[in-house]
Amino acid sequence: MNLPNFNRRDFLNTSVSAGLAAGLAQGGFFSAPTHASENKKLGVALVGLGSLSTNQIAPAFQKSANCKLTAIVTGTPDKGNMWSEKYGIGRDHIYNYNSFEKLASDETVDLVYIVLPNSMHAEYTIRAAEAGKHVLCEKPMANSVADCRDMIHACKSANRKLAIGYRCQYEPHHLKCVELARNKELGAIKMIDAGFAFKIGDPKQWRLNKKLAGGGALMDVGIYALQACRYLTGEEPTIITAQETKTDAAKFAQVDESITWLMQFPSGVLAYCSTSYNFNGLNRLNAYTENGFVRMDPAFSYVGNSLETSKGKVALDVPDQFATEMDAFAKCILEDKPSKVSGEEGLKDMLAIEAIYQSIETRASVKVVA
Ligand code: NAD
Repeated sequence: MNLPNFNRRDFLNTSVSAGLAAGLAQGGFFSAPTHASENKKLGVALVGLGSLSTNQIAPAFQKSANCKLTAIVTGTPDKGNMWSEKYGIGRDHIYNYNSFEKLASDETVDLVYIVLPNSMHAEYTIRAAEAGKHVLCEKPMANSVADCRDMIHACKSANRKLAIGYRCQYEPHHLKCVELARNKELGAIKMIDAGFAFKIGDPKQWRLNKKLAGGGALMDVGIYALQACRYLTGEEPTIITAQETKTDAAKFAQVDESITWLMQFPSGVLAYCSTSYNFNGLNRLNAYTENGFVRMDPAFSYVGNSLETSKGKVALDVPDQFATEMDAFAKCILEDKPSKVSGEEGLKDMLAIEAIYQSIETRASVKVVA
């Protein structure tokens, strides 16, 4: 794969309704669940209008059955005005980070979608829940296990739902892999080999700043490989051994450049994973089973993922991953059902991530403790 000038977006590209008062949403709403089949659309406030919001999430609203963009939160007034015109958002539904709490009385907003640098996820999830809104928060959930627990606690205390933006958990090829893993059509999984990497550009971006990003490639894209091993096995890793290398110590002074790690699962499955911010071409999920294999390459892209098993190629239609993810969460809210990408799911990834960093630091295998 020759990807000379790809930025992160290019790389990924290869391969309750308006009118509900915030006070009502504090409890009364759930006493009479509405069925999503009525195609009710929930109002979404998008927080952070950067690359992902601009290029993936905003267009996804056009394809969403159960979500509509009704408010935005941005620190840049010009951007707010531009979005307001482009997407027909009323000027009184544009907020900044200081006026965020006013969302509480915005009756057009049912849920808040947080698309900010990682270190801001915890603060804005908690503020959104306290404002009486459900929260969809981008991955990684937060920069620490402690922050993940605080976010879960805040949403529970406010009786609001929390979901993490794990789009691959709705992607049809991934769902097919999970189905094969569960029905054991190819036998039980014996070993997994997964990885996700890309060559990062601008050395001044927040992704290379530890305070804002929490970590490097592992937190940003390695998390896809990590989580795929968890949902393929349906188990949590018990022991992790990791190793890090830096070939550009200046650029990656604050965050990890490249990491490989080995995870052992209770059934005996071993998963070998890798991630990097310093090369392209690693984007795969391979599972070796008793009687065959499952191979996805590319595995974690927005479009173009490919699945082959030892029985042949599997071609599946992939609807917009962000519309699917938002609609799935809206249905959980409308039907008062738990989300499969809950805060607890994000916490489990973060437990493993902290174990990986601990293993690198101590140069020893680390037990993952819940
Ligand atoms: P980005 O840098 O393009 O956008 C970040 C936004 O946050 C910008 O609008 C910026 O103005 C705003 N911001 C507010 N305070 C900031 C500060 N102190 N420093 C920097 N920016 C600040 O980033 P992005 O690529 O849109 O990523 C945002 C989040 O979405 C991250 O958590 C990332 O992991 C996640 N993400 C998820 C996927 C996915 O496939 N699910 C893909 C890309 C990004």
